[in-house]
Amino acid sequence: EHLEVANPVRTKAIMERYGLHTKKSLGQNFLTDLNVLKNIVSAAEITDQDNVIEIGPGIGALTEQLALNAKQVVALEIDEQLIQVLDEVLMDYHNVKILNQDVLQANLPETIATQFDDPTRPIKVVANLPYYITTPILMQLLTSPVKWDAIVVMMQKEVAQRLAATPGNKSYGSLTLAVQYRMDTKIAFDVSRKVFIPAPNVDSAIVVLKPRSQALAVQPFDEKSMFRLIKGCFAHRRKSLYNNLQSIFGKTEEIRAQINAILDLTEISPQIRPERLSLDQFILLTNTFHDKGL
Ligand code: SAM
Repeated sequence: EHLEVANPVRTKAIMERYGLHTKKSLGQNFLTDLNVLKNIVSAAEITDQDNVIEIGPGIGALTEQLALNAKQVVALEIDEQLIQVLDEVLMDYHNVKILNQDVLQANLPETIATQFDDPTRPIKVVANLPYYITTPILMQLLTSPVKWDAIVVMMQKEVAQRLAATPGNKSYGSLTLAVQYRMDTKIAFDVSRKVFIPAPNVDSAIVVLKPRSQALAVQPFDEKSMFRLIKGCFAHRRKSLYNNLQSIFGKTEEIRAQINAILDLTEISPQIRPERLSLDQFILLTNTFHDKGL
């Protein structure tokens, strides 16, 4: 009978057979719960029409479940030692390609164009991310020209909460806005630290990112300027919006008067904390400061 990679006995057996020791420096925590993996595949709504990119396949537990459901899977693994393991463990799955590659160095449009038999199929990212580079990987995916049909990724629960936060929430900040500017964001489910080998010292959650179902009411005149303003506004979370805006634009009488006029015009209270502003309000502020020459 076929035994899945995703169970503690088989995971330990594979690690022993290949003399593997998990590398903390590469964020190696292997999933050993088949149920969790099946739930990840369902959250990503993987069908036999989909191309899937997996980041960090480890010893192949998630890769296997993806292979069983997707058209084709391309998995990028940085750890050279795992490549032979993956090739052997996943030998029976003919729709999987393993690449020995650092995802942060990868050219994803090119990888898609050259590695999938039919690059025009729906393209999804599914991964149990290496936690030490969650944010850089997310930003790489989100700023890539690839139009992802879904990004379904496991991360530290606290980071997941930042991604899915709403205005007024303590987790709400510039990372929230960087993600929600581009994608609809929701937490699918939490995952206990107990289902990994080795167990990390934090719990995890699965986040589902999908292309925005509703276009933004107003576009920022320039994305970089918007994110500069957002970062500046969150520099001092305990202080008022007005105080943060002064730190960004200046404290002279003239500039203060301009800031007040802009807040008046946009109907945003100067005393509000930055974490209460919606994305639409940050866009409005970005565009209004620009219009007024600041
Ligand atoms: N997918 C496997 C699982 O769920 O059991 C392993 C997940 S483990 C949390 C993260 C994996 O990402 C490890 O296999 C690690 O070697 C790999 N990794 C770390 N940094 C990477 C990078 N820059 N590029 C590609 N893979 C990376």
